[in-house]
Amino acid sequence: MRGLMMNRPLLVSSLIEFGAENHADKLVVSRRVEGDVHHQTFAETRDRVAQLAHALKALGINEEDRVATIAWNGHRHLELYYAISGIGAVCHTINPRLFAEQLDYIVNHAADRALFIDLTFVPIVEKMQGRFPSVEHVVIMTDRAHMPDTTIENALCFEDLLDGQPTSYDWPDMDENTAAGLCYTSGTTGNPKGVLYSHRSHVLHALSVASVDGFYLESRDVVLPVVPLFHVNAWGLPYICFVTGTSLVFPGPNLDGASLFDLMDKENVTAAWGVPTVWLGLIGEMQKQGRKPAHLKSMLIGGSAAPRAMIETFEKQHGLDIVHGWGMTEMSPIGTIGVLPSRYDETDMDERINLKAKQGRRLFQVDMKIVDEDGNRQPHDGKTSGELYVRGPFITAGYYNDESASAGCFDAEGWFKTGDVATIDPEGFLLIVDRSKDLIKSGGEWISSIDLENAAIGHPDIVEAAAIGLPHPKWDERPLLVVVPREGATVSKESILDHLASRVAKWWLPDDIAFVEAIPHSATGKIRKTELRDMFKDYTLP
Ligand code: ADP
Repeated sequence: MRGLMMNRPLLVSSLIEFGAENHADKLVVSRRVEGDVHHQTFAETRDRVAQLAHALKALGINEEDRVATIAWNGHRHLELYYAISGIGAVCHTINPRLFAEQLDYIVNHAADRALFIDLTFVPIVEKMQGRFPSVEHVVIMTDRAHMPDTTIENALCFEDLLDGQPTSYDWPDMDENTAAGLCYTSGTTGNPKGVLYSHRSHVLHALSVASVDGFYLESRDVVLPVVPLFHVNAWGLPYICFVTGTSLVFPGPNLDGASLFDLMDKENVTAAWGVPTVWLGLIGEMQKQGRKPAHLKSMLIGGSAAPRAMIETFEKQHGLDIVHGWGMTEMSPIGTIGVLPSRYDETDMDERINLKAKQGRRLFQVDMKIVDEDGNRQPHDGKTSGELYVRGPFITAGYYNDESASAGCFDAEGWFKTGDVATIDPEGFLLIVDRSKDLIKSGGEWISSIDLENAAIGHPDIVEAAAIGLPHPKWDERPLLVVVPREGATVSKESILDHLASRVAKWWLPDDIAFVEAIPHSATGKIRKTELRDMFKDYTLP
């Protein structure tokens, strides 16, 4: 027998309408490319979203059309999220740090009809003119006074489009499975793969994250996403905050420690979300000023493993509550969150930090399993590792228009293969051992590059570290540790090996250590291991 309840669709437009009504006075603050810091309320944001929706219709944008954005974190980008999806089109966010060929591939693969760009990216688009035949409109996200002199043909001005449009929109009712967003994963090999989110997946992801206990996403909180709107939906914050009534502070293009510190201080930021590399800059600034930003209480660190030493510095020296998270573009993107259960409230700080260095526990609606090479489920005992598979209503069911990329990503039961190797403990805490392709195979056993890196970063004179496996005649592979020393510090290989000796198994100790000025990062701030392997391909271990 079917239940007798209304079958109302879960739509993105309901999030902005709810937020604008229930949390009308909450703020969207943006440090803009033009240089100013702009404030508008949730209610004003909704009005502008409505104006933008009318403007998109006036440009001839229809349901299912892909509309692309290349922009920093700011209110106009947020408005595009809602206006594009709201009218039934697909908001396609593009990472500006991609190589030109990837950009070319993505825009043409998605067949975007319009392109909205921040002032910063005008030169990139100028250079790529003629390469995007599907794009009919290029809109520069600024006002008339700041419109640049550009060779982009018929470039339109964002604020001109909104001018005079009505401030309400009768959002269409749609099937909740209608596509709402598109994001390509950068992929270290092969072409980028498109993850096509639906209205339903966005709403369910927002509800799952909003329901995490003690996560600094209340109406009294103010959250600063360093994690970009141009990739992985800024970890869902644009949707979550309109449910929880949490004000948003967008940092624009300036992501250095001093700029972030200043903005957090002035705008009463209580929580900040981002990848570990970004927080290195903030730690530097906090050490320099001898304090944390005035109202900051918590940080969510994810995207790559948060080193234990980083968590410890934030917690012990600055009294912050650090939360570690794990996820993937394919998961909308959050899979696990490391808020500790209340039974750890009185637990000793070092033990709490040990637990926080794990990647956290699954969100409601995310199922996880680990399996061995033959696909047999492994126990959640915190010891046995296996390939991590996930399942749930906001996890991808296949890549956009790309059957070959989708093949092999799912098991016979439809679970998605993450490509990560992990353990899960009896309480549900996930520990990412490594990406399967980054594990170092030595004498038939695995060495976790993440563990080696985290241990190395605990050395006081090392800023960043990356471990890769190099071919070895006897052991198959042995680890090379590549490190960036702290500026001005002289650090010896011996002192690093001494530091590591008490932290990792003896046979894990790197066969050699290479010193570099910088470690290459991907467009999303992850260590680019393929490039590093390339850099050291002719290197012989002693
Ligand atoms: P990209 O940004 O390169 O497109 P994703 O953001 O989807 O790709 O990357 C997802 C991957 O990032 C995960 O499969 C995992 O390997 C890694 N990752 C994300 N968060 C963490 C974390 N907290 N600890 C370790 N690895 C992480």
